[in-house]
Amino acid sequence: MRLLLVGPPGVGKGTQAALLEQKFGARQLSSGNIFREELAAESDLGKLAKTYMEKGELVPDEVTIDMMGKHIAAAEESGKGFILDGFPRTVNQAIALDKLFEKMNLTLDKVISLEVDDEEVVQRLSSRICCSKCGEIYNKRNKPPKVEGVCDKCGGELFVRKDDQPETIRERLRVFHETTQPVIDYYDKAGRVLHVEALNIEATNAEIIASLE
Ligand code: AMP
Repeated sequence: MRLLLVGPPGVGKGTQAALLEQKFGARQLSSGNIFREELAAESDLGKLAKTYMEKGELVPDEVTIDMMGKHIAAAEESGKGFILDGFPRTVNQAIALDKLFEKMNLTLDKVISLEVDDEEVVQRLSSRICCSKCGEIYNKRNKPPKVEGVCDKCGGELFVRKDDQPETIRERLRVFHETTQPVIDYYDKAGRVLHVEALNIEATNAEIIASLE
């Protein structure tokens, strides 16, 4: 299975990708998580990505495409495919991904566009908390952890992402409309997109699964 999840920040791409990984075994490949891992490891790539991520800007295409190409190749070796979450985010990245698929003789099963309005994004991101250990995502409003500040799954410490501050959220939304919406239009032209209104985690997941079965 090879899927692609697109949508604004905070729409639930990571949550849905993790649920789909659990159900189908395909590997979740989140470009944002991979950048955060590089950042934590203080690699050259992480140091470069940090300057962009903190401002809510996109890491340059060349670097991102190269990094994701390597992860896609590794996931393919696992034999169960992958779920791309947060990549591609520019039309350039989408074109590069098409070329990579052609070279590797792969086909994309589905592009899933998760959709909510900007106001909802701001509300969600300003109450989002993440686990520093396993990456599980919580929300103070509608998915709080059982114990404040502690991950239900692994006991890791919960934190607020630096780019979930109000000013950075607005910048990330601006970047989404300007740069990532055209990616959805790019796939729409090829008739490859399932549009899902992502208001509720379970209902959204059920709709995606129904479209895949
Ligand atoms: P996310 O966790 O998907 O919200 O990504 C966090 C940050 O990582 C973004 O605001 C960007 O700075 C960077 N990033 C993630 N994916 C990409 C991508 N496909 N292209 C460029 N930058 C990205």
